[in-house]
Amino acid sequence: MRQATVCIDREALKSNLDRVKQLAPQAKILSMVKANAYGHGIKDCLAALDSSDAFGVACLNEALEVRQLNDQHSITLVEGIFAEHEMQIAIANHFEVMIHQQQQLQWLLDHQQAYLTKGLKVWVKLNSGMNRLGFKADEIIAVIQQLKALGFTCVLSMHFANADIDHPLSQQQIQQFLDIKAACAPILASCCNSAAIYKWPELHFDYVRPGIMLYGASPFADRNVRDLGLQPVMSFHAEIIAIQQIATGEYVGYGATFQATHPMTIAVVSIGYGDGYPRSYHRQNFVSINASAVAVVGRVSMDMIAIDITDLDVEIGQVVELWGKDRLVDDVAAANGSIGYELLCRLSQRPQRIVV
Ligand SMILES: *Cc1c(COP(=O)(O)O)cnc(C)c1O
Repeated sequence: MRQATVCIDREALKSNLDRVKQLAPQAKILSMVKANAYGHGIKDCLAALDSSDAFGVACLNEALEVRQLNDQHSITLVEGIFAEHEMQIAIANHFEVMIHQQQQLQWLLDHQQAYLTKGLKVWVKLNSGMNRLGFKADEIIAVIQQLKALGFTCVLSMHFANADIDHPLSQQQIQQFLDIKAACAPILASCCNSAAIYKWPELHFDYVRPGIMLYGASPFADRNVRDLGLQPVMSFHAEIIAIQQIATGEYVGYGATFQATHPMTIAVVSIGYGDGYPRSYHRQNFVSINASAVAVVGRVSMDMIAIDITDLDVEIGQVVELWGKDRLVDDVAAANGSIGYELLCRLSQRPQRIVV
């Protein structure tokens, strides 16, 4: 059988969650499991994240999937609901909603009795300068005051545009958040994703919202997971299925983009973009064989790639790590002009899944 496997290490997931607790000992943890737990598989990951305080998802379908597996934890829809009829389903299943615009506020007000009866908190999003979701600073105070007067418990929330790099916008976002928080006091607060958890311990407040760090990839372009005290959760492997000896001047793969400048041994590996292996090729990419880096040559096909094994003593059937503990997903992403988040989320269903 064709070997292309995605292996999920639940111990690594637990260890990364422990790292969050170590970094943010005072805050509750809303573990982000949107996009099928960043491509890792909600059903394979949820139990290992059991000591989280809550789970965060992007939409109702994801929330229902989590609820089927877990009827204890609180679940937050971090973008809220997308249509009014979703409100009844959310309330019936004990989902907390984010509200980030007037229409969502109205839907909540129209269902306030049922929502309040269930004792659900409401998350209210500030647009502090990212200009994606949220109420502007000059409208959010009235929204929160109205909700508080009706008996709602609010969590003031915002999201950083640049938690991963130094940018002047961050200070503006922080200042706005602190001002609104003070104006609405007392109020619960949450603004830290993975990068912000590392960067601003003083902003952890009531809930932190780790995502990528749980899965053992880095939220920073210039810091790798080992330095951050994290362990990669996913290992992605395939096998050598053919070996070709080529002479100087011969080509490899579609488009004949690679031409040998010396005699080479090329191995063909059972992985391609049909599995979610990236093809964009920004700069030299590598796989790992027994912890050494081996160059990818020529174009990535749907089902296969070619690697240069000229100086290696390997045979057909040799297992190759595409990313995992040795070859970090963040480095594969960088070689393809992407980020670890994207490669993890866009894996296809084709590789066989294994959980350890
Ligand atoms: C996805 C998400 C996070 C987690 O971000 P990471 O960078 O993966 O830690 C936090 N908050 C919100 C609102 C999100 O949508």
